Amino acid sequence: MEALLIIDYTNDFVADDGALTCGKPGQAIADRIVTLADEFLQRGDAVILPTDLHELNDPYHPESKLFPPHNLANTPGREFYGPLADWVAKHQDDEHVYIYPKNRYSSFANSNLDNYLRSRHIQSLHLTGVCTDICVLHTAVDAYNLDYQLTVHADAVASFSAPGHEWALDHFQNSLGANVVDR
Ligand code: ZN
Repeated sequence: MEALLIIDYTNDFVADDGALTCGKPGQAIADRIVTLADEFLQRGDAVILPTDLHELNDPYHPESKLFPPHNLANTPGREFYGPLADWVAKHQDDEHVYIYPKNRYSSFANSNLDNYLRSRHIQSLHLTGVCTDICVLHTAVDAYNLDYQLTVHADAVASFSAPGHEWALDHFQNSLGANVVDR
């Protein structure tokens, strides 16, 4: 069994009016993410959606000083973007779909993800979502340190920083040993 991770694919990170948006590069990967999600479910693999959750101006959270408020609880900005919102509405109760809130860049930080994967004997992770050089990167680093096999879908990750995106793709392949694939 393998797992597809769709990281932070919400309105705040993707929509034109999102608080921390990747803009067009983020929107351009929407259909590819949904296609991959369909393929994984059809094969009986897992589809996991680790999604940022913040409180407004939380004085104890380091991101409050680094970024504008984003992915706040119960706001449209935290809802999944476009076609992924429709996909989630249809599949969220599937036993192979796991949606959970995260509060750091890495999908592993303070979360049940490692236990979820180990209990299902999942050793191979496929990464998609945003931003390539922040939350996808930090998730990849933790996955590497936990000995997971990594595939990063270059056609299903995006960032608001084009140089950061390119740097991270290189890092996945050449420093983390990931299989970086394109259609
Ligand atoms: Zn955040």
